[in-house]
Amino acid sequence: MTTIPAYHPVSAPDYLPQKQLRELQSQRLQRMVKRAYENVELYRTRMTEKGVTPDDIRTIDDIVKLPFTMKNDLRDTYPYGLFASPLNEVVRLHASSGTTGKPIVVGYTKEDVDVWDEVVARCLVGYGVTDADIVQVAYGYGLFTGGLGLHGGASKLGCTVVPISGGNTERQLMLMRDFHVTCVGCTPSYFVHIIDKALQMGINMRDFPIKFGAFGAEPWSEEVRHYIEEQAGIKAFNIYGLSEICGPGVGAECCFQDGMHIFEDHFYPEIIDPATGEALPDGTEGELVLSTLSKDAMPMLRYRTRDITTIDVEPCACGRTIRRIRPIRRRSDDMLIIRGVNVFPSQIETGILRVDGASPHFQIVLDKGPDGLDRIEVRVEATPDAVDDTVASVEQFQKKIQHSISQIIGLSVKVTLVQPYTIGRSEGKMNRVVDNRNK
Ligand code: ADP
Ligand code: ZN
Repeated sequence: MTTIPAYHPVSAPDYLPQKQLRELQSQRLQRMVKRAYENVELYRTRMTEKGVTPDDIRTIDDIVKLPFTMKNDLRDTYPYGLFASPLNEVVRLHASSGTTGKPIVVGYTKEDVDVWDEVVARCLVGYGVTDADIVQVAYGYGLFTGGLGLHGGASKLGCTVVPISGGNTERQLMLMRDFHVTCVGCTPSYFVHIIDKALQMGINMRDFPIKFGAFGAEPWSEEVRHYIEEQAGIKAFNIYGLSEICGPGVGAECCFQDGMHIFEDHFYPEIIDPATGEALPDGTEGELVLSTLSKDAMPMLRYRTRDITTIDVEPCACGRTIRRIRPIRRRSDDMLIIRGVNVFPSQIETGILRVDGASPHFQIVLDKGPDGLDRIEVRVEATPDAVDDTVASVEQFQKKIQHSISQIIGLSVKVTLVQPYTIGRSEGKMNRVVDNRNK
């Protein structure tokens, strides 16, 4: 049976009566749109093109009048073009991979960081975490939002934070045991790896005092949840977010583990038809569109996440009034999430073609290694100009391409040269990716 965790004041907005929530959303949207229109050229131009002014936005339902924002808009305005605050008010920058070499940059004011901490704290409260918990943050720290995001929320709640960051799995296990860690945050695939490492070392993670896992940044299945919960004797919770909106903490599961509540007093969710852009009613599957309602440094109006999901029509058994989305398993673009890192096939193509004599015919094959981590192999057709018949020349060429791709995506890859004309040609959209990870 699921026990509902004790109430915590930080989560008060999760329970606002519908009418009050809508009023708050309407007020905040009006302010956000005005701020974006007055301070960000891209928003002003787009709204003018659509014939909309801030005066047309009176209630939250008017949101559909606004133009969409896309990942490319962040790239095109790199680095600060979407900022609505002067840089002296911006206290933090983060970045995530864009579709080409340049990352996309996001900024936060002091107040934005406070909101971020608050929503992540609300995620943790939903799981049942309290200030008595010891939270090991095994998401990467740095420009990636995962580490500092979870760190801020756990600190806000008053937890004891262990900021170990990702990697060094033996040390992760040692600290979990020695520090009596009760909550771990990392990507679900990294936690599966930690479990496997423990098994190899003859450690039974069920003997550890860990109770909660905050797992996100990539899609995962109920089967993985079951595996983690059985092997480690913990409850595994989903956490969702994206850098463009704030990072982790846009939404999270509650103790019922049945869909993720979106903190819609700060991030307003809509579902649209990805082909036409038409708004769809709750209960229909489509692309999730999010608008920030309080983000000062970088307002996001109707950001197209490319994540495919459904907004639940049923209220949740936990009593929260904020709506839930179903777990995200698919995207409407070709972005891949490999070990929690966003990778576009176009980046791999760029990496290959930067090497003299490389051919543009390639295929990406993804699978899981014996350690449970994602593996990526890029098969590239050899060209007679680039290699001769010797093993050394093939190996050297593979290494060059490998290095060039890794420079762009920040992950190590295996590159294999294959015979010319062995990779399928297509007249329409090429399917360059073979994903064997969930087989
Ligand atoms: P993050 O720091 O959360 O990885 P990014 O901006 O790098 O942020 O990537 C965001 C994307 O990661 C989302 O649009 C979504 O596709 C994916 N993602 C994040 N959390 C989850 C989750 N819990 N389930 C499925 N996909 C997720
Ligand atoms: Zn709930």
